[in-house]
Amino acid sequence: MRTSERAHRGVELVPLAVTVLSRAEVPLPLGIVDKVGAELDTRLDHRVLDLRKPAVRAVFELRHAVLAGFRHAFTKRGFLEVETPKLLRQGAEGGATLFPVEYFDQRAFLAQSPQLYKQMLIGAGLERVFEIAPAFRAEPSDTVRHITEFTSLDAEMAYIHGAEDLRATLEAIVQETVASVRKDLSEIQNPLSELLPDLSRPFPRIPFETCEEWVGRPGTEVDFGTEEEKTIGVRAEAEFGSPFYFLIDYPTSVKLRTFYAGRSDADPRKTGYFDLGFRGLEIASGGPREHRLAKLTENMVAGGFDPKNFAGYLEAFRFGMPPHGGWGLGIDRIVQMLAGLANIREARLFPRDRYRLDP
Ligand code: ATP
Ligand code: MG
Repeated sequence: MRTSERAHRGVELVPLAVTVLSRAEVPLPLGIVDKVGAELDTRLDHRVLDLRKPAVRAVFELRHAVLAGFRHAFTKRGFLEVETPKLLRQGAEGGATLFPVEYFDQRAFLAQSPQLYKQMLIGAGLERVFEIAPAFRAEPSDTVRHITEFTSLDAEMAYIHGAEDLRATLEAIVQETVASVRKDLSEIQNPLSELLPDLSRPFPRIPFETCEEWVGRPGTEVDFGTEEEKTIGVRAEAEFGSPFYFLIDYPTSVKLRTFYAGRSDADPRKTGYFDLGFRGLEIASGGPREHRLAKLTENMVAGGFDPKNFAGYLEAFRFGMPPHGGWGLGIDRIVQMLAGLANIREARLFPRDRYRLDP
């Protein structure tokens, strides 16, 4: 080692000998130290080389810190981490985005979400559960926020007194997780720590109806499209100074196919459903569920589902089910936003989409 003015840290290593452990083929399909960025497709085609870049590795250090932060925040609050089946006979969210699988001489589906199992575990008396696991959706649309295999962070809580109990818990967990990510990343001098937002303010709760006015189509009761979501994100940050916000009181008509969503008894046109947005992107959706068997079965039939196909799920409601609710949060989306990535694919090591099954 000798001192050097040109070297980054003022010292230079002088090798006494060099042993080649493994030879690299040349030319490389992808530059590792290039200043010019390669196209995302080229990078993903050669992901192993791409991951060698410090800026790309930094994203996965952030992802690790996000997962560790969430696990800690849930555990501290008495949530039990669970794992539920990913090979299912039935989907919960309707047929359009189900992946069928040949399952010996039957047909099965890849799980779109652990929804029904989370609720069954509430029936089992576990009271507070969370799961971090893959979810599969045959998303035909080619967008920067959809992939076909994503990591879903799902939680379910019993004995709630309404949607606000869920939101307050989710808000505290997100605030705590982002703070712990900042701490973890600063300790390893990961430059992404500087991008992390300050979440000391409460997340505003914005009614669905207000958002409809913001996007210029009051009272239409249609879910928001990508551009509308962005408009809502900009407006929320300008008015409330918070990059995260809850979009609350989804009308039943917008969540019609979601049979497990609780409707308000006073006004069945309303649900307690909410989304958590982060700078114009939906990060999580959740709400209180219907815990009464008769009402749940009624919602199922109204949504076009046959209760016979859900016998195992419905059994969990037959022997006492407390009021409960929960949410699903996309890990890849929150990592994408925290790391300031243009495309969700960059938030996964080996992303899968309609066209990509390799590497
Ligand atoms: P979107 O309207 O953006 O397609 P969604 O409302 O269909 O999402 P939910 O069923 O509410 O999604 O799933 C809960 C969360 O899971 C979403 O808020 C999102 O963070 C994440 N998620 C859902 N689908 C995908 C996907 N295809 N790719 C990545 N993340 C997803
Ligand atoms: Mg949603």
